[in-house]
Amino acid sequence: MNKPTQALDTNSVMFITQRPEVIMVEGRGSWIVDNNGKRYLDFLQGWAVNCLGHSNTGMIEALNAQAKKLINPSPAFYNEPMIGLSNLLTANSCFNKVFFANSGAEANEGAIKLARKWGQLNKNGAFEIITFDHSFHGRTLATMSASGKPGWDTMFAPQVAGFPKADLNDIDSVKKLVNDKTVAVMIEPVQGEGGVIPATAEFMRELRQFTKENNVLLIVDEVQAGCGRTGTLFAYQHFGIEPDIMTLGKGIGGGVPLAALLATDAVACFVPGDQGGTYNGNPLMTAVGISVIEQLLAPGFLSEVKRKGELLKTELLDLSSEFHLEGERGEGLLRALMLGKDIGGKLVELARDRAPEGLLINSPRPNLLRFMPALNISDDEIRQMCAILRELLKQVD
Ligand SMILES: *Cc1c(COP(=O)(O)O)cnc(C)c1O
Repeated sequence: MNKPTQALDTNSVMFITQRPEVIMVEGRGSWIVDNNGKRYLDFLQGWAVNCLGHSNTGMIEALNAQAKKLINPSPAFYNEPMIGLSNLLTANSCFNKVFFANSGAEANEGAIKLARKWGQLNKNGAFEIITFDHSFHGRTLATMSASGKPGWDTMFAPQVAGFPKADLNDIDSVKKLVNDKTVAVMIEPVQGEGGVIPATAEFMRELRQFTKENNVLLIVDEVQAGCGRTGTLFAYQHFGIEPDIMTLGKGIGGGVPLAALLATDAVACFVPGDQGGTYNGNPLMTAVGISVIEQLLAPGFLSEVKRKGELLKTELLDLSSEFHLEGERGEGLLRALMLGKDIGGKLVELARDRAPEGLLINSPRPNLLRFMPALNISDDEIRQMCAILRELLKQVD
């Protein structure tokens, strides 16, 4: 039966979240345009995904060229971009082996399975993975169980067992949870969804030392903080440590569904049958990943991310003192403004609905705003965003 389609008849779209009554139709750089032709300055960028902004030329060329050449030979065969991207990632990190996935949650599932497998082979079946309060690791059953989001422990009960929770930046809270069954600690170097809370360098170093001494693996979930977001290619590189396992997502695909599980030789213990997936390592997505990583590694790119992070920080601190807010925090171009009161949701709406141009920001907690712009955003666009925020803060004051 043919039903007439209407632009705004959204009934067939499964309801999973409240969405505004607009349709996003195109994007370029730091700007996205809706079906009414309204432009928005985009500090969401697909949820910290479009690290090179909308419609990046290099990505489009890689996608087009690969689409014409080979889209999917099946995961039973090697393909050129899969090998190229693996080599690029291992050459620029402390890891030796890469498995590609399609989402951050899937990469983390792989990390959990790899750690448990390693525990079976090396630690008498130890399987517990210590994670942290307010952490976020994804929306599959195991990664929801690993996450420390309030309320998630009972949401789809029963949970997957084996994820005791410690407190971020409190090494004693980790030590208390370690026992014979502990196989790994999994941590976001900067808690993203939890409200942009960086792990301290001291804590990360203590954690690495303690896990090493106790034959416990260290897994860094860099799905949000990795791929240049904090000003280094990978966030763990800030701390002078080498984790055993890392997961990447979001930025690695610059907007297309691509994620990765990386491990050192000592830990990469999967045997045939343990891990797989129909789309894993497909050349279409990994070709885009190569373009993204090469652009992040271009001379001067990451130092510019650091510089722009400092500019955003300075501008946010100015706003904070002007409006008596509670400062800002973050690393590189993943930052939050602490509002001191629960006006985050209101500001997000006002920013989006502002005329003639809107602003897209996000409030992972009601008392703060999060900023995750394209890493190649201009200084001018950073100042423009803060000028809009200034105007909105006056409005709600
Ligand atoms: C977004 C995110 C995930 C989940 O990634 P998906 O691609 O949405 O499955 C996992 N960990 C962290 C730290 C994230 O920010």
